[in-house]
Amino acid sequence: MKDLYIDGNWTEGRDGSRTDVRNPYDASVIQTVALAAPEDVDRAVTAARAAFRPGSPWRRTTAGERAELLHRIADLLVRDREDIARTETLDTGKTLAEGRIDVDDVVAVFRYYAAAIAQEAGRVVDTGNPAAISRIVHEPVGVCALIAPWNYPLLQISWKIAPALAAGNTMVLKPSELTPLTTIRLVALAEEAGVPPGVVNLLLGPGAVGAAMVEHPGVDLVSFTGGLATGEKIMAAAARGVRRVALELGGKNPNVVFDDADFDTAVDHALNAAFVHSGQVCSAGARLIVQNGIHDRFVGELARRAERIRLGNGLDPGTECGPLISAQHRAKVEGYIAGAIAEGATLHAGGARPEDPALRHGFFLRPTVFGDCTRDMAVVREEVFGPVVTVERFATEAEAVELANDTDYGLAGAVWTSDAGRAQRVAGALRHGTVWINDYHPYLPQAEWGGFGKSGIGRELGPSGLHEYRETKHIYHNIDPRPQHWFKG
Ligand code: NAD
Repeated sequence: MKDLYIDGNWTEGRDGSRTDVRNPYDASVIQTVALAAPEDVDRAVTAARAAFRPGSPWRRTTAGERAELLHRIADLLVRDREDIARTETLDTGKTLAEGRIDVDDVVAVFRYYAAAIAQEAGRVVDTGNPAAISRIVHEPVGVCALIAPWNYPLLQISWKIAPALAAGNTMVLKPSELTPLTTIRLVALAEEAGVPPGVVNLLLGPGAVGAAMVEHPGVDLVSFTGGLATGEKIMAAAARGVRRVALELGGKNPNVVFDDADFDTAVDHALNAAFVHSGQVCSAGARLIVQNGIHDRFVGELARRAERIRLGNGLDPGTECGPLISAQHRAKVEGYIAGAIAEGATLHAGGARPEDPALRHGFFLRPTVFGDCTRDMAVVREEVFGPVVTVERFATEAEAVELANDTDYGLAGAVWTSDAGRAQRVAGALRHGTVWINDYHPYLPQAEWGGFGKSGIGRELGPSGLHEYRETKHIYHNIDPRPQHWFKG
């Protein structure tokens, strides 16, 4: 199988090497895929540069033509929705219902940027001089390296591809080595939709392939979603040559519940916030902060319901939660669980692998609830990225805000209360890129997504998500030029 896509051709890697892609539900091999060699990185960037040259067919496309292209890709995603959702489930372990939601979100994002770019007109600036016209116009940045993680493979790469294409860039993509399948499929759909050769190129492989992309001097912009440590390396690499960089990194997201919240609704959403996709969500509500008056009852109910979450095969309609992505990742999460117990947290639910023999080959962990947590514990400070929620308690509003902001990250957070004034005060005080009031997890193509602090740089979605992929140019036209006589000689 030829799985790399370079300059409009499906191809093997130059050295012919391949790797297995496994289903985390049972560790079985789903498919083998080609791996990119260093020369393939150069070939892909060279193709993207050529497609971006002045006067190329792609550079001559109008915003309206690119909008149509994005709509065609969206139409093809709708056509193949069920099959793509199923592939995402096999590759990530998430439930089929979640896989379908991901495809629907991606369709909405392609359509949003189709509409956004079709309306693009730049702007005229008043020069104060009737003989001079000033215009602000937007142009594509150039060749973009787009690198994605394994938890939302199709969705995260699409949040980059859609605005990058809309703005008129060319690109080289690299999905996670653990979950490449839906990205391969998306590139095939882009080809079918008529994306010209060289505009979208696909490389597969581990971090070393991503590193070679970032270091390639032919790349103008790097957009990365993934872990903090990788993000720091990418930012350092992009500094050479002063390339643009956009980073969507991790989170340790506070979910603050006041005594006056609707109890049952807050518990229900707290479960979803912490355990959907086994907590492998950058915005997971992994850090519950609950007011004293309801604290004990809240922890009890949360633990009771966490124990009832049905683990299993994402393709089985009865399954509520799938496995973790890999044995290695599960071992890391188990390390945090052991560390939390050693640091004095109280285990209320989970904390171990399920006993069901049907799940023994998969990378499962039971949903885990820790009480008596304090902000100095590693399990509270660091991103666990698994089905583990910690609970801290608070007395006053000021204390809740202080705890919620005491994090290196700043991706998302939520506040639960029936007092609208307090809800707005707390939302205003939280240093996080998204704040939900009496809800958790909704995001919209038209609303910016991104983090404060170590959660990243830049924004995806919304108008800012398009702006990441555009240069801004000021064109000043003197229509009645005359000598200035500044210098008299
Ligand atoms: P990761 O950083 O290990 O890998 C992400 C991608 O980067 C992969 O494609 C990987 O191959 C590549 N990569 C690794 N080393 C590289 C290097 N030196 N140079 C270039 N590319 C390199 O992250 P992951 O484990 O795949 O994903 C989990 C992380 O992603 C979590 O921290 C999560 O919070 C974060 N995430 C953030 C968001 C967000 O919107 N902020 C969304 C999803 C996931």
